[in-house]
Amino acid sequence: MKTIRSFLKKNYPDLKINASMDPTGRNIVTLSGECGSWQQVVEIGHNVAKQEGVINVVNDLTVKGMTIPRKDYSPYIERGMESGQLDEADVVIVGLGITGCAIARALSKYKLRVIAIDMGEDVATGATKANNGGVHHAGGVKPGTLKAKLSVRGNRMYDDWARDLGFEFKRCGDLLVVEDPRFEEELKAEYQVAVQNGDVFPELINGDQALKIEPKLAEYGVEPKLALWLPSQGRIQPYEVAVALIENAAANGVKVIFDCTACAIETKDGSVTGVLTDKGSIRTKYVINAAGVYADEISEMAGDRCFTIHGRKGTIAIMDKNKPPMYEHQTGHYISASVQHRNADSKGGGMEFTPAGNILIGPSATEVPDKEDVETTGEELEFIMRINENPDVSTADIIRIYAGIRPADYSEDYVIGMSPLTHGFINVGAIQSPGLGASPAIAEMVENILFDDATKLKFPMPRKENYNPVREKKVKFRELSREEQDKLIEQRPEYGHVICRCETITEGEILDAIQSPVIPTSIDAIKRRTRAGMGRCQGGFCQPRVLEILARELGLDWIEVNLNKKGSNILKSDNRIMNGQNRDKRGV
Ligand SMILES: Cc1cc2nc3c(=O)[nH]c(=O)nc-3n(C[C@H](O)[C@H](O)[C@H](O)COP(=O)(O)OP(=O)(O)OC[C@H]3O[C@@H](n4cnc5c(N)ncnc54)[C@H](O)[C@@H]3O)c2cc1C
Repeated sequence: MKTIRSFLKKNYPDLKINASMDPTGRNIVTLSGECGSWQQVVEIGHNVAKQEGVINVVNDLTVKGMTIPRKDYSPYIERGMESGQLDEADVVIVGLGITGCAIARALSKYKLRVIAIDMGEDVATGATKANNGGVHHAGGVKPGTLKAKLSVRGNRMYDDWARDLGFEFKRCGDLLVVEDPRFEEELKAEYQVAVQNGDVFPELINGDQALKIEPKLAEYGVEPKLALWLPSQGRIQPYEVAVALIENAAANGVKVIFDCTACAIETKDGSVTGVLTDKGSIRTKYVINAAGVYADEISEMAGDRCFTIHGRKGTIAIMDKNKPPMYEHQTGHYISASVQHRNADSKGGGMEFTPAGNILIGPSATEVPDKEDVETTGEELEFIMRINENPDVSTADIIRIYAGIRPADYSEDYVIGMSPLTHGFINVGAIQSPGLGASPAIAEMVENILFDDATKLKFPMPRKENYNPVREKKVKFRELSREEQDKLIEQRPEYGHVICRCETITEGEILDAIQSPVIPTSIDAIKRRTRAGMGRCQGGFCQPRVLEILARELGLDWIEVNLNKKGSNILKSDNRIMNGQNRDKRGV
């Protein structure tokens, strides 16, 4: 503690910062005091976390003259208390991003009562919906970290996941080229990192070999001197994976509750007894905290303040498909973070694309005090366009800009494990990139933690005899041959009714999505499942049609259909067409 205090005094002589050590002896430092800016709060947190022996930082530093936004759980608690008991389970999973969905599926193979809740109206409404969709190689991950270990293992598990769950997965490989000799040593170091982490077949290759892998480099006038080929890199649509996972988990018996906010963890004699949500209390033996940017607050609810999440915003621009990716593989120059003036703690930023063929430009990486600040700004757009290497695209090709918040902590590693203070409470926090790639391995790790603990407690966790890991692949009309399409339309005429013209999404596909084990209730939920609204017009034409289908199938009024979360209804009141007898005449 003495060294940390003297470090703070020496480096921040003008600030009054208090540092104290976690009383449980875990070498977690709690910081308090006042700083000059949010950047300084984050910088001090990072610097303290880097001190020898420190495993993490709880950062209570404030900023002079600034109110740091914090979620107020009291209205949720009040509503939950009024509602009484909602349900009973063995395990409650809080948060249904890719991490929670993966865990739900992993646990669905056991004879356990698993309830999975999310405060959103669907899965993947947090970081999982707003990222680059890379199943990363282990080139840029610090060796020895949990992140590195789970990233490599998770990446290898993706082929099985994609086969069983029927989602699109492109193992495109990543080719990092160097033309400027200044970066050769750094590229060699990146190769060593990949080797050390146990990545699959990374290769340091010369310029000619690079041109063989990606001949189009020459067309763009690139003359690689040295390159790093990382064949394990893959690409997914992250929301598609989350939906596939939760549908399979639900088909195997997991109960899913949306619009349900965890607001307190109930304990007795140092063990979990339940989760209070705004819909009531769920009695349970285990709580798995996969709450993304709010994971530190859920951990605090369980009486275990062991990390702080500082949101790191990333802005991404998505391009129209009429500008296809330059290269077949994920390919770009290796340029060190310092030269691009980007945050070295965040991965990504190369020439990325979605499996559907849209180019992605970005992300940026900006520390923000508000965990819900997903506003996109001109400044961020200017930055991502500046680091873009693709001469074929400009801002005119952008069909959407979005931002997501990375749930970073100060150790810049994952926080996964049973709380030593509250038995039955399992943290799965700080899952920033490569969280998508690591998620199969994260789920496996959590499954093992639970299994070991249950075994110790002689609490049986037998497997279900009828567990089915396979989720049937959904129809993608646009990918079928003409003959296959005709056959399908004959069987179900709704496949002949195109709703989203940009992406060729049919009514049949929307009905398939609705008639699934986890029913989508919002327009965005349909978009995540089918791509209706993801094309050039961004739903300008198909949104009213999707609204009509949702209302018809779910027995709702048009004005009750939300764009996404509660209260985001697109139609605010009855209009001339809807009122009176005309209302009954509507139809798709
Ligand atoms: C711009 C950007 C680019 C990225 N690119 C990549 C990439 O290419 N590859 C990669 O591997 N990773 C990438 N990441 C990181 C990746 O998105 C995350 O690691 C991953 O999505 C984390 O998933 P999660 O399930 O842990 O969190 P989330 O997806 O944030 O899910 C957490 C869920 O918890 C719910 N929740 C929170 N509080 C409560 C509560 N009190 N009660 C109930 N529910 C609650 C939220 O509603 C949310 O749905 C990127 C991230 C960003 C922001």
